[in-house]
Amino acid sequence: MAYELAPLPYDYAALEPFIDAETMKLHHDKHHQAYINNVNAALANHPTLAAKSVDDLISDLNAVPEDIRGVVRNNGGGHSNHSMFWTIMASPKSGGGGEPTGALADQIKKDFGDFEAFKKTFNETTAKQFGSGWGWLVNQGGKLKVITSANQDSPLSQGLYPILGNDVWEHAYYLKYQNKRPDYLAAWWNVVNWSEVTRRYEKAKK
Ligand code: MN
Repeated sequence: MAYELAPLPYDYAALEPFIDAETMKLHHDKHHQAYINNVNAALANHPTLAAKSVDDLISDLNAVPEDIRGVVRNNGGGHSNHSMFWTIMASPKSGGGGEPTGALADQIKKDFGDFEAFKKTFNETTAKQFGSGWGWLVNQGGKLKVITSANQDSPLSQGLYPILGNDVWEHAYYLKYQNKRPDYLAAWWNVVNWSEVTRRYEKAKK
């Protein structure tokens, strides 16, 4: 069963003014679709691998034959990363932005000092990712940690579950923010869907 592009869980304009509708349309309909097309093509003759969820697929890249491993890593990673990305955002008019509460808020406080310090660490670390990649929040050995990855590499391939991630490929922000990646990173917190991130945080603990 080939992978398919799920519709965005909101309108293209839902994340305005922080992420513009044009960027969302290109990012979802063209970029994400391309990752799906490429991973499907690579797996066309590998029904056992194609039957896995994309997260399971990239969690065990050693199970992927070497001749397609690079394509699967990049494009399976792209499919997995973007599938997460759309769901961890929400319109500021319907729950996006603000701060986490409960156990996640407590652990952020414990591991980073406070929410502002966490955002600062995330923004500074991710701003420095050279070229295309992602910034991530993961739970490593019971401690929250900010990491980055190049290209479409997923923390899942290192045995880490991504609690949240922000896409710093230029396609994610260049139409509106041009070269100002730090401005995009700062604005992005206004559309973070903390209820979905909290669900992922609880999953990462298991
Ligand atoms: Mn992207």
